[in-house]
Amino acid sequence: MEREVRVRFAPSPTGPLHIGGVRTALYNFLFARRHGGKMILRIEDTDSQRFVPGAEAYINEALAWLGIEFDEGVKEGGPYGPYKQSERRDIYREYVQKLIDAGRAYYAFDTPAELEAKRAEVANFQYDASTRGTMRNSLAMPAEEVKVLMDAGTPYVVRFLVEPGRDVEVNDLIRGKVVIKSDILDDKVLYKSADDLPTYHLANIVDDHLMRVSHVIRGEEWLPSAPLHVLLYEAFGWADTMPDFVHLPLLLKPDGKGKLSKRDGDRLGFPVFPLEWHDPKSGNISTGYRESGYLPEAVVNFLALLGWNPGDDTEVMSMDELIKKFSFEHCSKSGAKFAFEKGKWFNHTYLQEISNAELATLFKPVLLQHGVNPEDFSDEYITRAVAMVKSRINFVSELWDHARFFFIAPDSYDAKAVKKRWSAETPAIMTELVDVLEGLDDFSSAAAEPVVLAWIADKGYHLGNVMNAFRLAVVGECKGPHMFDITELMGCAETVRRIRIAAERIQIPE
Ligand code: GLU
Repeated sequence: MEREVRVRFAPSPTGPLHIGGVRTALYNFLFARRHGGKMILRIEDTDSQRFVPGAEAYINEALAWLGIEFDEGVKEGGPYGPYKQSERRDIYREYVQKLIDAGRAYYAFDTPAELEAKRAEVANFQYDASTRGTMRNSLAMPAEEVKVLMDAGTPYVVRFLVEPGRDVEVNDLIRGKVVIKSDILDDKVLYKSADDLPTYHLANIVDDHLMRVSHVIRGEEWLPSAPLHVLLYEAFGWADTMPDFVHLPLLLKPDGKGKLSKRDGDRLGFPVFPLEWHDPKSGNISTGYRESGYLPEAVVNFLALLGWNPGDDTEVMSMDELIKKFSFEHCSKSGAKFAFEKGKWFNHTYLQEISNAELATLFKPVLLQHGVNPEDFSDEYITRAVAMVKSRINFVSELWDHARFFFIAPDSYDAKAVKKRWSAETPAIMTELVDVLEGLDDFSSAAAEPVVLAWIADKGYHLGNVMNAFRLAVVGECKGPHMFDITELMGCAETVRRIRIAAERIQIPE
């Protein structure tokens, strides 16, 4: 029988979720949904030193914003909870004991200072088969001595006993079979009595097993831990239910070599976090995709294609389409360059797809920020204004640059354009234009345009100069949507008012 697909996203709440972590969550989600499986959110908070308040709430909010949903988790509950590792101490204690009883793990009493001294003394020191006999642990010390230490409550750790001379196989669905020699592994710490908590490795394996995880999908940075995880599965006797591993390719700098870092984002001007993050310690604020004006659908689509393709060159895909097409077959082994410009392109594309009314709603807060009260304009007016300029924007905030003139009359006029298009005769011609416009019964673009053009032709005026002066007066510069579409929306009174103001205010260049 095919195994039920059960995957987990297992972040540690040590800070804001990085965009690479978001991609990991997304691939887990796509894979789970593709196979009708379950998606679990497990909070791996066993490292109390690195715990950051607010990080868990941030993770929840970010994934909810992107539409990445969980079937089981801290909030959702589920049959294998609790889903927060700090609430599972009893479980880990029991499993650590099992390994000790089976002779697969042992107690070690070496203090940090002793380990430090050893490292200074022995080059490339590793706690393993070749050195453990010289250390202070339950394998090297007489049983009575161990008992005395334990009875006295001496702090200890539990280490995993790695047997040398083994080939450890990791089956990775993207990379194939990866084989490493157990000799290079050290006897990893699995549990620390000082805080009565397991380390990441132990908790991760026990939970993956107990939560019936079928596929471990995570970033490539976890690949070095995988052989140890395989050995732990075996030591517990769980080898036949070992999950498949999937180590996703790294996200790389957009330019040059190496891993994507926050500094690349600062340097090149793009966010590396899904949401804005307020660092509770430093007070620093890092920008997020949401606050930078990205639509969640665009972020999802962009991230999905960083390390995966649908097998053809389709680029724009909704979450449902991604789910239908997703497989590890088309995931790449090599790192994916973080092409943030492509992210902007996706945002542009998705902004063209939402309705004009929706776009107008998103634009209202931007108007407010610029001191324009959206209540002063009808919804229809705002909607038609954004419709005219939306093809030029990547972000909602950019609507302001392109549509501001619909809401406020120009307070200055582009100097270059004035120089080129405004001459001593222009004010008089503009006054005539006002008469022509005021004489129109129908101010629609289709009706006004031929009348104005006929007047220009009749008078023998220079078409480009007159139309550009007209535009300069209404818009403030010589660009924007079709002139008569602008005036249709603005209406005769406002158009005429602006022309009159310009005719008075624009100084003819010497
Ligand atoms: N807690 C680990 C992390 O922060 C989980 C790694 C894994 O998925 O095994 O990414």
